[in-house]
Amino acid sequence: MKFYKDHYDVIVIGGALAGLSAALMLADKGKDVLVLERHNLPGGIASSFVRGGIEIEAALHEMMSIGEKDNRLKVGKFFDDMGVDIDWLKVPEAYHASLPGIEKTMHPGLETFAREVDEEVPGTYDKVLSLLKLCDTVFNSVNELSIHPMSKAKMLIKHEAFVKTAGYSTKEVLDTFDLPQKALDLLAPYWIYVGSGFSELPFTIFAVLMADYIGYGSYIPHKFSHEMSLKMAERAEAMGVQIEYRQQVDKILVKDGRVYGVKTARGDEIHADYVISSAYPNKVYTSMIEPKSAVPAGAIKMVNGRRLSLTAFSVIMILDKPAEELGIKDYSVFRGETMDTDKLYAELKGLGPYHYLTCICHNLANPDATPAGTCSYSITTLPRVDGWKTVKAEDYDKVRREVAKQMIDYMSAYLGVNLLDHILEIVIETPMTVNRYTNAWNGCIYGYAHTMEDHIVARLQTAEAESFIKGLEFSGAHQISGDGMGPAVTNGRKAAKNVLDAMAKEAKGK
Ligand SMILES: Cc1cc2nc3c(=O)[nH]c(=O)nc-3n(C[C@H](O)[C@H](O)[C@H](O)COP(=O)(O)OP(=O)(O)OC[C@H]3O[C@@H](n4cnc5c(N)ncnc54)[C@H](O)[C@@H]3O)c2cc1C
Repeated sequence: MKFYKDHYDVIVIGGALAGLSAALMLADKGKDVLVLERHNLPGGIASSFVRGGIEIEAALHEMMSIGEKDNRLKVGKFFDDMGVDIDWLKVPEAYHASLPGIEKTMHPGLETFAREVDEEVPGTYDKVLSLLKLCDTVFNSVNELSIHPMSKAKMLIKHEAFVKTAGYSTKEVLDTFDLPQKALDLLAPYWIYVGSGFSELPFTIFAVLMADYIGYGSYIPHKFSHEMSLKMAERAEAMGVQIEYRQQVDKILVKDGRVYGVKTARGDEIHADYVISSAYPNKVYTSMIEPKSAVPAGAIKMVNGRRLSLTAFSVIMILDKPAEELGIKDYSVFRGETMDTDKLYAELKGLGPYHYLTCICHNLANPDATPAGTCSYSITTLPRVDGWKTVKAEDYDKVRREVAKQMIDYMSAYLGVNLLDHILEIVIETPMTVNRYTNAWNGCIYGYAHTMEDHIVARLQTAEAESFIKGLEFSGAHQISGDGMGPAVTNGRKAAKNVLDAMAKEAKGK
């Protein structure tokens, strides 16, 4: 039997969440799809690993856009529709905020959240609720518009709040609510998950983040994020998708401005009408297009013009006692010395010390996360790639250990327990780890930064002009819906939709 068919409708580069979502959607429409994954497992960052006989989540803190079983949001619904049956566990709280003058656990639900802010800052209930409702309205508009684009005039009538706030930063919109600083601090902790300071972060992005996480709560799969990848891959294969692991795509083949296949590191040349790439456009346009002369100048200009968003530095530990014995009371804690997001964003450019950390104890949403008598605890910051690019190979081990130690000490002081005395297993994930494992450009997990000059609305408008090579689509954190595991699924679906639309158009033209 031949390893590959003579021809496929679509080749997907990368068998992680974005690539597998694209493959599922295409297979659902009867297309012949090949997924090529360079690793020996599906999932990319959505993975787990085993140390000392204990399975450990590699990344996931919380998934957005899942929703309750009878009221699914778009990502949860996609899994259901595709027959990918995930055992979702709801995260019990939004987060615990440990900030100057604040120790407060916040819970999902717009009214609940507004009431909890009001408990700390009396008299703010109405304003906070109306802010959260505005976020919810914008969120619904974004969801509708990402599926049914419409004319500007129609948008103005049907999606007034979205249009009205689209050109403003988060800071500008928050300022109009005239809330006391403490209330703003309680509303801000999730900002790090979209990675720009509030002066630069488009309000649209903040609104989506808040409405999704605060309005509907967050979820994790019972068997770690790898449950998603494994079940997606299993379902895709059952639907006829061919997935080949340990197959790195080195080249995307182009002739007369259109893709016609790929070449793997093993030397196979495989043909297809369409290619969907999880590899970053930066990687594709600088080294993967063959011949090089087929790279349009605009493509290089585009990748050079985009600023890379955040990467990750995570200290993941298995501790020798249950959470409650170590003073760990909350699933998710954001701890910082300020909630000035612009200042914190500037700090992320360096190599630490980092003064804003996010900590997760999976056992508090998933009692099966680790063996009895132990718990998992991860401490994460999401730095910018700039600082980490300056680390020399000979200094790498020292730097990562120093940064990890600072973060462990910072959280030990908060818990009143020396975490160093309780570590059974420890893994330090750096931007280099992410880069080595998934090939993410500079280890960047969040694609391109959301800024006022380059945000989702602008990207929707330039998407067609940025389609530089016919038949080549991209899926992953670097695409329109941006960063995170939920958005990776949405980005994969969008790439598949673009391919299906192009196929339909071509069939009509024949
Ligand atoms: C520590 C950490 C914590 C995180 N926490 C969260 C969280 O709580 N919630 C959340 O939503 N998101 C979180 N994220 C971000 C999230 O994991 C990513 O945004 C998302 O998983 C990206 O998915 P992807 O499919 O776009 O890409 P990736 O997971 O990067 O996958 C890309 C895939 O393509 C393959 N590939 C690349 N190049 C080639 C090639 N040339 N040939 C063949 N295969 C190739 C890679 O091997 C990989 O499998 C976290 C990330 C980290 C690192």
